Formats: sequence, structure tokens, C-alpha cells
Amino acid sequence: MSEYDVIIVGGGPAGLAAALYTARMDLKTAVLDRGPLGGQLLNTELVEDYPGFESILGSDLAMKMGEHARKFGVDIRDFEPVKEIDLEADTQIKVVRLESGEELRAPALIMAAGGLPRYLEVPGEKEFWGRGVSYCAVCDGAFFKGQELAVIGGGDAAVEEGDFLTRYASKVYIIHRRGGLRAQPILVDRAEANPKIEFILDAHVKEIVGGEKVQTIRYEQHGETKQLEVGGVFIFIGFVPNSKLFKVHVDHDEGGYIVTDRNMQTSIEGVWAVGDVRAQLTKQIATAVGDGTTAAVAASLYITALKDGART
Ligand code: NAP
Repeated sequence: MSEYDVIIVGGGPAGLAAALYTARMDLKTAVLDRGPLGGQLLNTELVEDYPGFESILGSDLAMKMGEHARKFGVDIRDFEPVKEIDLEADTQIKVVRLESGEELRAPALIMAAGGLPRYLEVPGEKEFWGRGVSYCAVCDGAFFKGQELAVIGGGDAAVEEGDFLTRYASKVYIIHRRGGLRAQPILVDRAEANPKIEFILDAHVKEIVGGEKVQTIRYEQHGETKQLEVGGVFIFIGFVPNSKLFKVHVDHDEGGYIVTDRNMQTSIEGVWAVGDVRAQLTKQIATAVGDGTTAAVAASLYITALKDGART
């Protein structure tokens, strides 16, 4: 069993910013991530909207954030999946059980676990996962050099990643279920100016078909069934927050996003939620970092109050 002042679950920008602050405030801090550090940064090719960095690779920014937190002595444990988060009944100590069997304890816990891609749930999606179906353009785009690809979705991720995929693909069809896109105009303008991109709107994907690998995507548009021959299907239809690790109830909205107050405090005392797992207007690196900072300061005040209380 290991004891900390603060345990941070999730090593993306929100978790790493929180860790940087708590460690600088001399709190013994652990960051746990089931994979490599960086969270959604690792699914982003170029970051162009984080102040101070006109243009930086997502993976480079992730590395810098990790190194920065390490410099202040954070115990960073990547590739360390969390099994569940519990509360000790009488002391309210937060108990984090790892898949490895180890148990970590702390009075303060910052939930920064982000989320997972939403699945399209059509026939062929699961079957061809890794054989043409992907949720990460940066990770898999290079496997599709010279091929035609379908991108599903109409938000920022679909439009931005569709644009990115044209580095490799000969053509990218962005298929969206409505007539209008949800993505920011700047991203849409860029995609519309890209001759390799074609938007297919009001189109509902019905099936992904192939042999050894993806060959065809079938969709319905204006009452007609149509199909495209593509080498790959990239799905960017949103995000499901990783809020189910808690063994106890934490207030959340209908989408599963954790509800917090303005200090990132959840419905459980001593537990804060930051970044993409939290119910809020947008999911940006800058907002994640802001959330992490606020939670870290709040956690520090909480721990000081606990220590003062224990002394009196
Ligand atoms: P999103 O904004 O929630 O968009 C999801 C898209 O997928 C929507 O167009 C939605 O359609 C569609 N969709 C949802 N369920 C579907 C289904 N079952 N079948 C077909 N289509 C479906 O998600 P996102 O694009 O992943 O972005 C998530 C967050 O990250 C957003 O806050 C976004 O601003 C942020 N982000 C920002 C950047 C950037 O600033 N550069 C880049 C990537 C992501 P409807 O429109 O019909 O609902």
C-alpha cells in the first residue's frame, strides 16, 4: 500500500497540470495512467490553439507536460490501469485499487481520466477494428497511403482529423448524419478548401463490409442505400467519459460527465474532476489545464485544512 497527499487518475493535460501544481505546493502526488502520458494529446497531430505554442505536435506537448511534472517530483506511473476508486467509510480516505492488485491511499483525489471514443455500433465496426476501422488518425493514418478513406462524424474531431488524413489518403469522404456540421467554421473552411475532401451529408452509415480488411461502407442518404469503396473507416463521433471507476456514487449528467462546482469539487468531499471527464462547455487543452490548476489549489487548501484540524 502506498500513501500520498493527492492521487491523480489520468495523465493528460488536466492531470499533468494538476500534478505540477500539487507537487510544487509540496504535496506528495501520484499520477496514474493506464497508457502513455498525454491523453487526447496523443490523438492530435498538430496543436495550434494552446497559447504560447503557435504549432506543436500533440505528442511533443504531452512529453513536455510529463517532463515538467516529473521535474517537481511527481510519482508518475504510466501503463498503470486503475481498477476502482473507493472511499474508506470512517476516514473518507480515497482508496485507489490498481489492476496490478496494489492499493494507493490519499485524502485528496483528482479525477482526470478523460474518456473513450464513442462507437458507431453498426455491423462491421467491431469485426474490422484494427483491420481498417480506426479511432485515431495520428496513430493509423500512415497505414492508408494512397487509399480512399471514410471519416464518420461532423464535429471538430471528424473535420480536423479528416483534413489530417489527406496527408496519406488519395481522398477522404467525411460522412455526417445531418445537413449541417457541428465543427468550428475555421476547421470547416480548411477542409472545404482541401481538394481531397468530399462531404457527404444527411447520410447514415449502416454497415462496414470487407474481406480480410475493410472494403466498403454502406450508408443511407435521402431514402437510398449507397456505398463507397474505401480502404479504411475513421470514426470520430464523440466521446464517452471515463467516470465509471468510482465504486461510490458521484453526481454526473445524462452523458456520464462528472458535475463539479466552480472549484472542480465533485459531490464527494476531497474528490475533484477535471478535463474531459467533467461536464463543461468545451474540451480544449487550455481548459483542461485550467481545470487541473484550480483543482490542485483547491486540493491543497483542503489538505491544509485537514492537517490544521488534526493539529487542533
Ligand atoms: P462532438 O463535438 O461531440 O461531435 C460528435 C459528432 O459526431 C457530431 O457531429 C455528432 O452528430 C456525430 N455523432 C454522434 N453520435 C453519432 C452516431 N451515433 N452516428 C453518427 N454520428 C454521430 O465530438 P468531437 O468532434 O469528438 O469533439 C469532442 C470535443 O473535443 C469537442 O468539445 C470539440 O470542440 C473538442 N475538439 C476540439 C478540437 C480543436 O479545437 N481543434 C479538435 C478535436 C476535438 P450531430 O452533430 O448530429 O450531433
